[in-house]
Amino acid sequence: MHNILALIAAIVVLVSSLVGAVRNAHADLNDVAKALGAATVKSIQYTGTGGVNAAGQSVVPGLPWPEYNVKSHTRSVNYETASLRDEQVRTQALEPARYGGLQPIRGEQRLNLLVSGDIAWNLVGEQPASAPIALADRQFQLWATPHGIVKAAMARNATMQGRTITFNVPGRFNLKATVSEDNLIARVEGLLPNAVVGDIPVMIDYWDYRDFGGVKFPTRIRETTAGYPTLDLLVTDVRPNAAVDIQVPDAVRQDSNPYARVTTQKAADGVWYLTGGSHHSVVIEMKDHVIVVEAPLNEERSVAVIAETRKLVPGKPIRYVINSHHHFDHAGGLRAFVAEGVTVITQDVNRAFLAQALGAPATVRPDAQAKSGRQPTVEGVSERRTLTDGTRTVEIYRIQGVMHHDGLLMVYLPKEKLLSQADAYTPAPPNATPPMPPSPFSIALADNIARLKLDVGDLLPLHGRLVPVAELYRAIGKTP
Ligand SMILES: [Zn+2]
Repeated sequence: MHNILALIAAIVVLVSSLVGAVRNAHADLNDVAKALGAATVKSIQYTGTGGVNAAGQSVVPGLPWPEYNVKSHTRSVNYETASLRDEQVRTQALEPARYGGLQPIRGEQRLNLLVSGDIAWNLVGEQPASAPIALADRQFQLWATPHGIVKAAMARNATMQGRTITFNVPGRFNLKATVSEDNLIARVEGLLPNAVVGDIPVMIDYWDYRDFGGVKFPTRIRETTAGYPTLDLLVTDVRPNAAVDIQVPDAVRQDSNPYARVTTQKAADGVWYLTGGSHHSVVIEMKDHVIVVEAPLNEERSVAVIAETRKLVPGKPIRYVINSHHHFDHAGGLRAFVAEGVTVITQDVNRAFLAQALGAPATVRPDAQAKSGRQPTVEGVSERRTLTDGTRTVEIYRIQGVMHHDGLLMVYLPKEKLLSQADAYTPAPPNATPPMPPSPFSIALADNIARLKLDVGDLLPLHGRLVPVAELYRAIGKTP
């Protein structure tokens, strides 16, 4: 009898230790939460230095995103209010300044990017500016932090399968996290909606975890977007449960779709300059169709621009949309035009990329183009192309020698003496002193006007405002 009891006791010990071993091999979310010290973390703030890259701003499609030095990057997260603030101080890294993304930076550039719940905005100086275009990315950044993953997964009743945690936030992102042997978050793979390419992959690696008052946090963070680096951070300071109070400004709350704001200015008979936000378009009426110059930002912007175009020119189809270059802020509205059957014209270096991107699926947040099932028609321009209906002539030229982008197109109307371009020259606000030294991109634009002997009266820049060409020459300290 004693022997049998002893045997049973031995079996119980053996089985429970086996169960323990199995449990260790198949750690669950609670083990990850415990390893990270997540239970006590309601907010977190961390600071680091390193490098950051502007996704969507390469000099041509298929090259890495341009890099900046990060003098300081402070991220503040409040998990209870689903709020995040990134404060970043950047300086110029590339010499000479090449690629896009507001280069060259003179001195320091300060970014202040926020999200709270379903509202995203930026602070420009002290002024809040609604930024719904950034919502999915910022929510992903919030919930892709190591503690955020555990909290979001638990809130969604997600489970850990092997070493991976998977959950989706519909319309915002799909997330898969890989857990290391010591139950810490090692890698995050996200799939996010993108206005140009449909879905875009973002990958974050976390390593060199250290202990900060009982809370584990990585001191190395590296991120790629569509395979190219977008962040490389050495974390120098982590403050678990720092006070993080982020309130949505009233002005932002009341401005839920800033992209729908269209202000129309007649530039000539049958030519209109559509502004109202950060990125503009030009509408040109032809005999039996319409040409639109630029489809920037996102679908929401294009919906508004297309509606305004139909109001200005009722009864004529939009046949072409001319794309200045592939930078994501300038190409984000193209998919909505493709969904309407509009042909895209771009410089040759962008053609293959746009033909592929504009036809790619958008599974995370299906857009009109994904639903239309249309194949995009994308035509390339090498150095020049003329569109004419016998009455009006539209000349398209490549702008040579602007290091912002290798395949920049500008649009010139010879009869109306109008010139439209993006990013080579953006007029400063009225009465502002011209930049010193002048922008090399603007100098290159003036060189192109001279090379092509264009007789320009007014400029319709795709950022800024309508100005006489004399403003360009004043900005570069030259006379034509
Ligand atoms: Zn650009």
